[in-house]
Amino acid sequence: MNVHESEKLAGILAAKGYAECGCEDDADVIVFNTCCIRDTAERRALGNIGVIKAVKKRNPNLVVAVVGCMPQQDGAAENIRQRYPYVDIVLGTRNISMLAEEIDKVLISRTGVKKRSDKKYRCFDRTLPEDYLTIDENTPALRTSFPNAWINIIYGCNNFCSYCIVPYVRGRELSRDMNAVLDEVKRCVDGGYKEITLLGQNVNSYGNDLKSDVNFARLLHEIDKIEGKFRVRFMTSHPKDLTEEVMDEMAASSKICSNLHLPMQAGSDKVLSDMNRRYDRQRYLSLIDGLRRRMPDIGITTDIMVGFPTETEADFEDTLDIVRRVRFSNAFTFIYSPRKGTPAAEMEQIPYAVKQERISGLIALQNSITKEISDTYTGGVYEVLCEDVAPKSENKVCGRTESGRLVTFDGAEADIGKFFNVRITQSRSASLFGRKEGEIL
Ligand code: SAH
Ligand code: SF4
Repeated sequence: MNVHESEKLAGILAAKGYAECGCEDDADVIVFNTCCIRDTAERRALGNIGVIKAVKKRNPNLVVAVVGCMPQQDGAAENIRQRYPYVDIVLGTRNISMLAEEIDKVLISRTGVKKRSDKKYRCFDRTLPEDYLTIDENTPALRTSFPNAWINIIYGCNNFCSYCIVPYVRGRELSRDMNAVLDEVKRCVDGGYKEITLLGQNVNSYGNDLKSDVNFARLLHEIDKIEGKFRVRFMTSHPKDLTEEVMDEMAASSKICSNLHLPMQAGSDKVLSDMNRRYDRQRYLSLIDGLRRRMPDIGITTDIMVGFPTETEADFEDTLDIVRRVRFSNAFTFIYSPRKGTPAAEMEQIPYAVKQERISGLIALQNSITKEISDTYTGGVYEVLCEDVAPKSENKVCGRTESGRLVTFDGAEADIGKFFNVRITQSRSASLFGRKEGEIL
């Protein structure tokens, strides 16, 4: 989501005639697109903003903007104003399309022609009625991840998981008009993009807030009808909202990949309830069954959090147990980090050392499963979309199988955006290595 929002910010700057430059000392404008999902993300953003003080001293004409989730938290914009007075512009998650006009205001105020009354930081006001917040369909994205195109389908979140800051900083769910999404998919496919990733905090809620009767399954169905050879992925799906209809669409479609990111968070019913996730381990396991019954080769990935305040050793064992049962192809693991203003931050916290020990155990278990699953690919031939040149190796490229496994194989930059049959010759942890057996046209 943040990568795609940065593409939109870059699009706004490009439309104003700005181009990317190599280093901060050459920059006329620096925009920090921030995230506050965990403490580490927030501290990194603040550290980087702090570093710019010296750059601004060397170049007083520099315009500095801080945008996104972080300033949207209670008191955060004020904190930025006080701690980093050289920051010129602060915009919240639903105000990023104002970047161009805010830059103009700063530049005009510096000419002395028109004094800027006071720095006005623009974050959305949570006391405003929700329908005040409209969707900006005009901000162009400067896409940076060819052959992959990110497309937002729904903004915000209504779920209020007890640990999560997202609903506070991104507001309530707001779905894009289905035709606007379909048009964007068509434009990307016509422009040569080969993989479309639909984005939302909870894509399965798509359409709930619209007057028409569209839902996520219908959107997938319509996207599947668009002509051309391209792949479709989406994230994120909430287990409480993943429907049989969506699973059926995935299974029936040749474009929607057999790959799903389905965050589990925890394996204990008590912790899931305290997290306000509104599903239990039984529901989660039956979803996995439903997916594998329809798509035996599906690659399922997840997010798991350890160290939630009420998690006991026995609860953590439940998480390890479900990880052993499901056998995820990969898992993003996080140490719970208290976020101010959320209910879980008010609870008594678990010592950090305990959290660290738990995450080490979880990572070790998942790594061994990831490796075992990787080994099953060896010798087989898989369709791989070439996505990039491989880092640090010559004459090698990399891409993903339909199930989402990363494969490195022989090739050149000209292969990016093409589909190949690749025979897997070696596996190492989450990565596979292979040999091209011909292009798929
Ligand atoms: N909407 C998605 C998740 C978005 S946030 C969903 O519901 O699955 C991505 C991941 O960050 C979450 O799945 C969760 O595992 C993690 N996360 C969210 N809040 C966190 C917190 N306070 N501390 C640690 N990890 C957190
Ligand atoms: Fe956060 Fe839960 Fe919403 Fe995901 S569904 S963004 S974890 S509140």
